[in-house]
Amino acid sequence: MAVADRVIIVGAGPIGLVATYWLARLGIPVLTLERDTETPSDMRASTFHPPSMDLMEEFGITPKLVAAGVPAPQWQIRVHETKESVIFDLGVLKGETAHPYRLQCEQARLNRILVAEIAKLDNVDLRFGTEVEAVDQDENGVTVTATRGGETEVLTGRYLIGADGARSIVRKSFGIDFIGAPYPETLTLTVTDFPFEDHIPGLLNVNYHWREEGNYSLMKVPGAWRSGGRLRPGQDLSDVLSDAAAERHFQTVWPKSSPYNIIYRGSYRAHRRIASTFNVGRAFLAGDAAHLNDPQGGMGMNSGIHDAINLAHKIRAVLDGTDPALFDRYTRQRRTIATDEVQQNAENLRNVIKEKEWDARQARLRQMQAIAADPARHKAFLMKTSMIEGFRKVETIA
Ligand SMILES: Cc1cc2nc3c(=O)[nH]c(=O)nc-3n(C[C@H](O)[C@H](O)[C@H](O)COP(=O)(O)OP(=O)(O)OC[C@H]3O[C@@H](n4cnc5c(N)ncnc54)[C@H](O)[C@@H]3O)c2cc1C
Repeated sequence: MAVADRVIIVGAGPIGLVATYWLARLGIPVLTLERDTETPSDMRASTFHPPSMDLMEEFGITPKLVAAGVPAPQWQIRVHETKESVIFDLGVLKGETAHPYRLQCEQARLNRILVAEIAKLDNVDLRFGTEVEAVDQDENGVTVTATRGGETEVLTGRYLIGADGARSIVRKSFGIDFIGAPYPETLTLTVTDFPFEDHIPGLLNVNYHWREEGNYSLMKVPGAWRSGGRLRPGQDLSDVLSDAAAERHFQTVWPKSSPYNIIYRGSYRAHRRIASTFNVGRAFLAGDAAHLNDPQGGMGMNSGIHDAINLAHKIRAVLDGTDPALFDRYTRQRRTIATDEVQQNAENLRNVIKEKEWDARQARLRQMQAIAADPARHKAFLMKTSMIEGFRKVETIA
């Protein structure tokens, strides 16, 4: 590998791996450094939206991803107690996308697919168990100081991508602000392998439930159901994540005589934050290193995938002779979409789904049912929440 020409990527989460694979397939040598000793087996993201699947067709990842996941052609918001619901049908997006459905598939599965594909390429050096301690750049290239097994190494390359998540060392090293704040509530995630689909009438593969004793989502992934919630004032996290609370929660979802087999419990803090820029000289940010949004609607990783593929093509174009000013367009495009589309759409959905008062919920339900009943509004709503509208806006940003 030509060391001087390579792109160095910090982080092999989904965004670092997409960037690695795309750059390598575009003929660019890549060195990717990941702190974890193996492919991150993260439970966080479970939803892939149509534009991500359309984009990942380019180098054949989509068919592998689709084979690993469960399609959700419809999703619903429903009232736990009355079973009243509003159903949104992504079938109305046929003709707008080659994938008119959400794909339910954990981000760890994408990671594993990408690592297997990357292993077939001879222009990638993917190193696990390697922690980046410092980064720097000058007019000729970038320098990364990394530690592996107690040994420190100084590595050089032409460009640097920080795909190193919310606490990005790349972002901090170049003094880039991360503007915004955390949301007040803690999010919880509980997973069981009980087949709710065989028991609960009317259940879809993506369901957001309003419930008097706490709203919850129920999302199908291969072989399991994930249930998300938000900690309410006065609730203690260790209580909510206890065996007894997980059992109590699922018993209200579907009462049964035997206990549930709980396969995962975790908590997360959501933020709305945006990096002041996504590019500084030869260094770039992508994914959570660049932007964070409420996970409602499942858009964070999706928008990071769009960042990574957009950036890979721009790096290719600059290496082929395009003016490096093209990199400023990366920030203009992806930062605008992150704030105006992703953060805003996620927050709108958050406000609907976290609705607590009975009367307000009823009013929301009628509003949403009116949208679903009107074909033009139904399609417009799904063009937004399925990220197609925002994705198309990118090309209109000079
Ligand atoms: C509860 C929850 C549910 C979610 N659901 C969805 C969803 O359905 N759909 C969706 O689109 N998004 C979803 N998200 C968001 C999604 O999980 C993130 O946007 C996504 O993980 C971002 O990927 P990333 O690669 O940018 O960062 P990360 O996944 O955080 O990966 C960063 C990687 O960098 C490595 N790293 C960090 N620092 C260093 C260093 N110094 N040296 C070496 N390596 C380093 C880390 O070990 C890690 O592997 C959800 C988030 C939450 C909390």
